[in-house]
Amino acid sequence: MSGLTLENIDKNFGSVVAVRDVNLNLPTGQFICFLGPSGCGKTTLLRLIAGLETPTRGRILLDEEDITHAPAHKRNFGVVFQSLALFPHLTVGENIAYSLRVRKVDKDTRQQKTAELLDLVQLSGFMDRHISQLSGGQRQRVATARALAIEPRLFLLDEPLSALDAKLREDMQLELRMLQQRLAVTTILVTHDQREAMTMSDLVVVMGPDNRVHQMGFPLDIYRNPADTFVADFIGTSNLLDGTYTGNREVMVSGTCLEVPEVPEGVPLDTKVTVSIRPEEVHVLPGIEKGDNRLHGQVSFVRDVGSSVEIYLDCSGLQIVSQSTPKERPEVKQGDQATAVLPPTACIVLRS
Ligand code: ATP
Repeated sequence: MSGLTLENIDKNFGSVVAVRDVNLNLPTGQFICFLGPSGCGKTTLLRLIAGLETPTRGRILLDEEDITHAPAHKRNFGVVFQSLALFPHLTVGENIAYSLRVRKVDKDTRQQKTAELLDLVQLSGFMDRHISQLSGGQRQRVATARALAIEPRLFLLDEPLSALDAKLREDMQLELRMLQQRLAVTTILVTHDQREAMTMSDLVVVMGPDNRVHQMGFPLDIYRNPADTFVADFIGTSNLLDGTYTGNREVMVSGTCLEVPEVPEGVPLDTKVTVSIRPEEVHVLPGIEKGDNRLHGQVSFVRDVGSSVEIYLDCSGLQIVSQSTPKERPEVKQGDQATAVLPPTACIVLRS
């Protein structure tokens, strides 16, 4: 099978388990994000792929070739670290051409290639500048060009945008994504920023605090169908309602019977489950309106941020958040009685 395959990968540092039982098939030419909270093992997994660490157990295959023990410099991967690790005493051009010089590429080819790469990252004319004379975004582009100079089989990025301010970060995300699409190079980006992962990737790999992969999939699929309560909570916000599966596609939540579209296979009757529903799927009606899949409560808070309105409802101790556009804003204010409508199709049942 072509692409990158991780088979039964464990990585321990003494008694610390950094990565646990990872099995992944990452297709060629895609933009993939490793997403998860701090300490979940994203960087370690990237370093294992780069050849900067050796797995305690398992194999790494690239296009069916076992590269588990291949030295980093023989893998032909381009890596950009969080620190960027540019050489401060070299010019922009010298930084970009560095790996070509190490590979003994002749001077003319080096110069031509460097000029092409500068053009690609929109830094034409910066060839002789020193690194200290560049802005954060420009340094980021130099690091990208340097990593791409060797025409890498894999392009690996470890949170390279985290030091940039929010606006520049968004611009660079777009730029990186467009560059990757143009070159069709298989790219893996490590990030703890779910918005970054969701907006940039073809595929997202979500890792959890137990240092395991919880889910891999298309960004929207993960958002709409989280595999478990950790993913539902980590990706965006979600109402996670504890309930009991009573059979017949129904879950009892806080004394109210909710109809749900499906229940994970093998969940026995009368067991605890969690119903996950996104805030934008919850509709709020003023007053107490009877009907199916509805919870009643009191508005505890209204947060209006202009582009969206969040209504917080206290339904007998159960907190429900609803989000709507200003146009659909429910006519309720703090302290009012209100009804939360939870459409059955939006109620995703997860094992507790
Ligand atoms: P962050 O987003 O904070 O960078 P991460 O998800 O990238 O976190 P890793 O840096 O991969 O996480 O670390 C995973 C776990 O392994 C952590 O508990 C970390 O302390 C531990 N760890 C990583 N590298 C080493 C090392 N060289 N020696 C000992 N423990 C390590």
